Amino acid sequence: MATAGKVIKCKAAVAWEPNKPLVMEEIEVAPPKAGEVRIKIVATGVCHTDLYHLFESMHKDGFPAVLGHEGAGIVESVGPGVTEFKTGDKVIPLFISQCRECRFCKSPKTNQCEKGWAAERYDVMSLEDSRFTCKGKKVLQFMGTSTFSEYTVVNQMAVAKIDPAAPLDKVCLLGCGVCTGYGAAVNTAKVEPGSTCAVFGLGAVGLAAVMGCKAAGAKRIIAVDINPEKYEKAKVFGATDFVNPKDHSKPISQVLSEMTDGGVDFSLECVGNVAVMRNALESCVKGWGVSVLVGWTDLYDIAARPLQLIAGRTWKGSLFGGFKSKDGVPQMVKGYLDKKVKLDEFITHNMTLAQVNDAIDLMKQGKCIRTVLSVSPQ
Ligand code: NAD
Ligand code: ZN
Repeated sequence: MATAGKVIKCKAAVAWEPNKPLVMEEIEVAPPKAGEVRIKIVATGVCHTDLYHLFESMHKDGFPAVLGHEGAGIVESVGPGVTEFKTGDKVIPLFISQCRECRFCKSPKTNQCEKGWAAERYDVMSLEDSRFTCKGKKVLQFMGTSTFSEYTVVNQMAVAKIDPAAPLDKVCLLGCGVCTGYGAAVNTAKVEPGSTCAVFGLGAVGLAAVMGCKAAGAKRIIAVDINPEKYEKAKVFGATDFVNPKDHSKPISQVLSEMTDGGVDFSLECVGNVAVMRNALESCVKGWGVSVLVGWTDLYDIAARPLQLIAGRTWKGSLFGGFKSKDGVPQMVKGYLDKKVKLDEFITHNMTLAQVNDAIDLMKQGKCIRTVLSVSPQ
């Protein structure tokens, strides 16, 4: 490729500071170093975790950054020593790595690889690892990926090679939201056939959790959201009941307990709100109920009465749906191509990267499930 080994100048949406719109800028993307892959991003989703970094998180040192972590693209060039990827491969950059060598990768119990960039912090890569420069200033790579850019550089440990038949403007959703919710139900909660589940929050993550509960054979799936516009969509993914906490004066856990003769078998929190996390735990049946934290927040502590756990409930968390990233993503892509995993149904809006601020506003206002931005032509 003509660009291999050279700095690429391209367009990216830069978050210069918190709480401000992103700015379309020309950035410089350095060539990949040893073990790294430079990717032309074709399409990206906008996930709530991008909004969390921009508007909610307290890490004010995480700027300037290029956000976006739910993308798909094509390998432009590879750095020295890379044999697993070549120019033209279709890939999904991953916000958690899978080195296959560390003690966490060797254990079947977890996907928390310790070799990746995220070993130090979960939001941005270190400045030394970032390959982006804008106006003479180094720019951070959000969640190691930075898909709101025409080109990005990622370590090969955090790239999944996918089926060349996969449409990138759909499978980009497997870079975060859909794998996260689906896997939280299937891998982390380990939802059982015939069980009753409750999913709190019906964004793409929660809807994917509903889809996972259904795939695992749940017989009743109660979808909970304060935005009634989300209910029709939840039905498409397999929800059987809908509850709006705003319609009830009693605590939502009591409402669910009465609906289910003592509580649900599995509950998944897909909002990112510590009060909802507690509600989700308290909505589980004593004895065996399992509640999973999926929503993203690091601002406040969670609280619960110890007796909730003493009585036999289990409280767990799930990062990227518990999928070992390099193994799991190509399998989910295959699931989509085999029509076992839905993706098109999550996409409510299609826009271009230049419209990223409009996409962010839509999510803030609860008016979309996923907006897919086209970033570069294929
Ligand atoms: P989203 O904004 O599209 O959806 C959130 C939904 O929660 C909305 O439908 C909203 O109406 C609903 N909601 C808000 N308050 C509520 C309440 N009190 N009770 C019930 N519902 C409520 O977001 P998303 O992109 O689907 O992401 C969901 C969460 O998952 C976010 O916190 C995101 O950061 C997190 N996330 C976690 C991981 C992970 O690996 N654990 C990965 C991706 C995203
Ligand atoms: Zn995400």
